[in-house]
Amino acid sequence: MAHSRQVLIFNTGSSSLKFAVVDPGSGEASLSGIADSLGGPEPALEWKIRDNEEQIQLSTGANHGDAIRVLVEEILAGLPELHGQLVAVGHRVVHGGEEFADSALIDSQVIEAIEKCAHLAPLHNPAALAGIRAAKQAFPELPQVAVFDTAFHQTLPQHAFLYALPYQLYREHKIRRYGMHGTSHKFVSERAAALLQRPLSKTNTITAHLGNGASITAVKGGVSVDTSMGMTPLEGLVMGSRCGDIDPGVLVHLGDALEYSPEALNQVLNRESGLLGISELSNDCRELEQAATDGHRGALLALEIFCYRLAKYVAAYTLPLRRVHGLVFTGGIGENSSWIRARTMHWLGAISYELDSQQNEQMRYGAEGLISRAGTPPALVIPTNEEWVIARDAARLVEGRGT
Ligand code: AMP
Repeated sequence: MAHSRQVLIFNTGSSSLKFAVVDPGSGEASLSGIADSLGGPEPALEWKIRDNEEQIQLSTGANHGDAIRVLVEEILAGLPELHGQLVAVGHRVVHGGEEFADSALIDSQVIEAIEKCAHLAPLHNPAALAGIRAAKQAFPELPQVAVFDTAFHQTLPQHAFLYALPYQLYREHKIRRYGMHGTSHKFVSERAAALLQRPLSKTNTITAHLGNGASITAVKGGVSVDTSMGMTPLEGLVMGSRCGDIDPGVLVHLGDALEYSPEALNQVLNRESGLLGISELSNDCRELEQAATDGHRGALLALEIFCYRLAKYVAAYTLPLRRVHGLVFTGGIGENSSWIRARTMHWLGAISYELDSQQNEQMRYGAEGLISRAGTPPALVIPTNEEWVIARDAARLVEGRGT
């Protein structure tokens, strides 16, 4: 029966495993949880069924496979109603390189292709592969599907995805913009078209996914035509602890004059920059807003740089779209921070955006709707739901097998 189909979703990090059981029809998650600190001295597994939360300690050094075994034996075994309803396992995979423009049913060729892209996401892709292997062992009867963060952006034209580097670096090493957060940008751009009551194929949106990682995408008629993250998730907007755009000459200077090693560069650009680096206080937007309200100048400056950079990108992305039907804020910050939205809209006043302050204050904790004044360019808040996209894609591909 269509209503009883469920997809088990895995989002595997290097030392964590998020999981959920999601109905591809409604997006509702009947189970969700996370195994954390895997490989460490005190790994733990927390989960939520409906509104009941539970937690257990895993044995020291437990890995992804151990966590999945506990999920099967301790959690899923207690949910007999799910048996027979699970139709697929969907895996979030960060980098699909140029190999994948859509999600894929996992077979040995797909695994090989994911391995081939691993140099582009050395922390993430091997973790996803570990999750896929463990899930195959635990659920040998279920088809597995890979959903790639990069796939939605494979429609970028060459003039948007190529760096102005020697072409040979692209030809031989595939150095180019790939973009990330594709499942989120896809989901909110589709939802925006529905909310604006327009056909997707005739709707142009600029979607700003603002979480700990942040990226912005120009979506023309449902198709990604430009995006701010690059070959890695470091380019573009200011993020929690990542710098986003900087002059590449700075890297040369840091390496040459200040003798930063590649590891030290990686550390400073990924973990010590962004909101944290500027504020010298925190990578957490909520904390910075509180500090800024209390007069912390670093916090105020960090938030302002974040908003200015974001507004610059919005203005730039009107170019490939020509007509923008909706600007969408999503992610933990986009969905909840009226501060960030208000300051960004302030900068965007230059291109006719106007904030409805009352509406803006009301949009948080899962609320959805317009924050712009009537008669001005529409700006919306739309909560993202990446798990739903993964569940829908997995169900679609499984059905398409013609079984
Ligand atoms: P995410 O990575 O999507 O979970 O987003 C995490 C970011 O969202 C953090 O910087 C949080 O501080 C921010 N965030 C979550 N809730 C709020 C809130 N109510 N106000 C401001 N920022 C928030």
